[in-house]
Amino acid sequence: MTGLRRLESLPQVLQRRFDLIIFDWDGTAVPDRRTPTPDLNKALETLLLQGVWIAPVTGTKVENLEMHSLSMLSPQSRAGRLIGCTNRGSQVWAYDPDGARRKVWARVSTETEEQQLSAAAEELQRRLGERGLETEIIYQRLNRRKVDLIPLPEWADPSKARIGELIAATRARVRAAGFAENADLLDLAGDLAREAGLQEPRITSDGKYVEIGLTDKGDSVVWLLENVARPNGIPNDNILIAGDEFGDVGGFSGSDARMLVPQAENAIFVSVGPEPAGVPHPVLNAGGGPERFVEILQWQSTLRAS
Ligand SMILES: [Mg+2]
Repeated sequence: MTGLRRLESLPQVLQRRFDLIIFDWDGTAVPDRRTPTPDLNKALETLLLQGVWIAPVTGTKVENLEMHSLSMLSPQSRAGRLIGCTNRGSQVWAYDPDGARRKVWARVSTETEEQQLSAAAEELQRRLGERGLETEIIYQRLNRRKVDLIPLPEWADPSKARIGELIAATRARVRAAGFAENADLLDLAGDLAREAGLQEPRITSDGKYVEIGLTDKGDSVVWLLENVARPNGIPNDNILIAGDEFGDVGGFSGSDARMLVPQAENAIFVSVGPEPAGVPHPVLNAGGGPERFVEILQWQSTLRAS
């Protein structure tokens, strides 16, 4: 634990124990999907063995959590209190004492919902096409459709360093099609999804895609509150919820803002992201990226050990 700064350097609300730590993965726990994360892994292992509930929340699949991190933890630490919430609120995983991964919950779509998701995405594509904005639909994601607003070869797989540029390029296309902001497009996607028959569509965007889905990260948080916090007597103010994109990103709210569900009132929300447009209430803007997040975790185990 060399290099650990003094506890007093952390914001005051973080200078106490939390029994459940919910956190976004990409940009919060890890800088990218390639870099090994020994410090994170060690901190998670220690906290789990100390009895803290650990719940990473991601829009992607469980293999991305495991690759450099969760699969490196001992089966003993993983069993019981490690809960992986994946696929943007649609799946929840736990681990058995023998190390095996087990699906504990899944949002299973009906055939009708699948048709409605496709219908909404296709109607959005048609409407945007009428305005000269060419898009591409990605169908094979669990419980959602992604509409690519900028399906150009040069933007097929942009590096994280080019995100600002990507958002600007997408915004220019969206404006050229007559929308003032990307957010207007999200509103349209929501309207079309409801017209297609979806009761509570979840519309999200990362700048490149508009996503029409059945769940989002808020569903992960609600699941954790109902199935981990409540049964274990963990009050909301003993819950830490961390992310890196709570604020506005290029004309729409960041994906972590979905974790600000009313049921999580009084939980402590913290962002370690750059947050160029600031953070919404009541999120604490700590900055510092994944390094800072790991430091917050390390302090949690220090507080428990003392
Ligand atoms: Mg993130």
